[in-house]
Amino acid sequence: GALRQSLREALRQCPDMARALSRLTVGRGGPRDLGAVRDALIQSSVIRGLLTRPGPAPPPEAVAALDNGLGDHDVLIDRLARALKPDAPLLSRDGGFIAEGYAPPLDEQVALRDESRRLTTALQRRYQTDTGITSLKVNHNNFLGYFVEVKPQHADKLSEPFIHRQTMAGGMRFTTVELGELESKIARAADMALAIELTLFEDLVGEVAARIDDIARAAHALAGLDLVTALAELAVSQSYIRPLVDDSLAFDIVGGRHPVVEALAPAGEAGRFIPNDCDLGPERRLWLVTGPNMAGKSTFLRQNALIAILAQMGSFVPATSAHIGVVDRLFSRVGAADDLARGRSTFMVEMVETAAILNQSGPRALVILDEIGRGTATYDGLSIAWAAVEHLHEVNHCRALFATHYHELTALAAKLAGLACHTMRVKEWQDDVVFLYEVAPGAADRSYGIHVARLAGLPDAVVARAEAVLGMLERDQQSGNLARLADDLPLFTAMPALGPTQAGPSPLEEAIAAIDPDELTPKTALELIYRLKVLSE
Ligand code: ADP
Repeated sequence: GALRQSLREALRQCPDMARALSRLTVGRGGPRDLGAVRDALIQSSVIRGLLTRPGPAPPPEAVAALDNGLGDHDVLIDRLARALKPDAPLLSRDGGFIAEGYAPPLDEQVALRDESRRLTTALQRRYQTDTGITSLKVNHNNFLGYFVEVKPQHADKLSEPFIHRQTMAGGMRFTTVELGELESKIARAADMALAIELTLFEDLVGEVAARIDDIARAAHALAGLDLVTALAELAVSQSYIRPLVDDSLAFDIVGGRHPVVEALAPAGEAGRFIPNDCDLGPERRLWLVTGPNMAGKSTFLRQNALIAILAQMGSFVPATSAHIGVVDRLFSRVGAADDLARGRSTFMVEMVETAAILNQSGPRALVILDEIGRGTATYDGLSIAWAAVEHLHEVNHCRALFATHYHELTALAAKLAGLACHTMRVKEWQDDVVFLYEVAPGAADRSYGIHVARLAGLPDAVVARAEAVLGMLERDQQSGNLARLADDLPLFTAMPALGPTQAGPSPLEEAIAAIDPDELTPKTALELIYRLKVLSE
């Protein structure tokens, strides 16, 4: 705990060294990037100290960072720390970033430059006394450089050595030979100083470049450490637990939570995130999750996918216990992502993604499918969803969560042994629907779409009319229709004989792919046709 806190404290003070490095290596870096390298390396040495100090051994992930190249950069750190001022500017071109005492020739020029500035003040004082004009000023602008300025009424008091340069409404401007000499001395010193600084800058960039591999390794180690300490912090502060990941086909999450929705939930009992279990063991590996809109279906699906990812990347997970048989591929189809720019409608995208899932997922896959069939007419959508559930169950054999508002699909439970129906619990209360966000066995009996429409502010007249239409439709629908569909359809005769694992190109397809039409003579073409004919039989 204490080690984690100190590590995070040190990491917080770490600038983004990888970014600074990449700018420096392509020649677009500035003094501030060198400063970032210096500060990050300083923290990496602090961290090295933390990980090697006597006491209980740090956890293996932290030691890995140490072994994998946090490295020892004391020489470079010392160099950069001595060379750079604490707050280096973004760009090198104006100078002013090399610390005093690092380069004596630079200090000399800077002193000369500053000394000259003092000399112009002295000169102003002398000219004031010589001419008796107390309001006389020595000023500077980019156009004239240094000049002497007096009010117009004093102008005629100035003669040798003052040379008139410019007449303004508020003043007359003059120069003198002495002032000109002073000016070039100042300019020379400033130029020299800048040139020295730029050379020193290049040297320092060279120093960094010479050690770029070591430094990049340190940046990588820091990033890794940042990741593991952040996950460790989450685990402690959000009460995550260590999952059990093994070779089984288990997927047993108790008290699972969605890490983001939970974090966004408003404080207090009312907005508390409701944890849910999810057990996709072999005899119930496909869950049909029904429930109205906004009841928490997507959240439930995603939290389980996230828990699988977190577990397999070595993190603790937001649950009270988790047992996961290794997932080899995770498929997710959620939300409505339009790809109209490429000429695909929402529904087309949905189908392309669903096709990928049904074609590719095997028994070790974890699939979450949210509301497929939404983007088309009701019966179309229901039929596609229906067939997809069957395929997942019979052919893919994967673990899957299938959220749907088609509660008709629950009729399939009677037929498919591994299908388990679950629903998001809601409470009807005084004509109102209260979402409980609890996943319970069973099926939703209504979709409450009209209720959600009312919540969203559809005009009362529209809501009332929709209720009337729904009533009519429900009366018309002969109940039991769908139950019969589940019984009657010769479901599995329609299934392709090949499972997803065997679904490669056929010999015929392979033969066709191998043809190079430009190489064919009429005779070989004819032979080829005979061969293809044989393959197709
Ligand atoms: P659906 O997919 O059923 O339409 P969502 O999963 O999008 O519903 O959930 C709708 C909202 O309900 C979420 O944005 C979240 O605020 C809230 N919610 C979902 N699950 C929970 C939960 N387990 N506990 C508390 N609030 C939840």
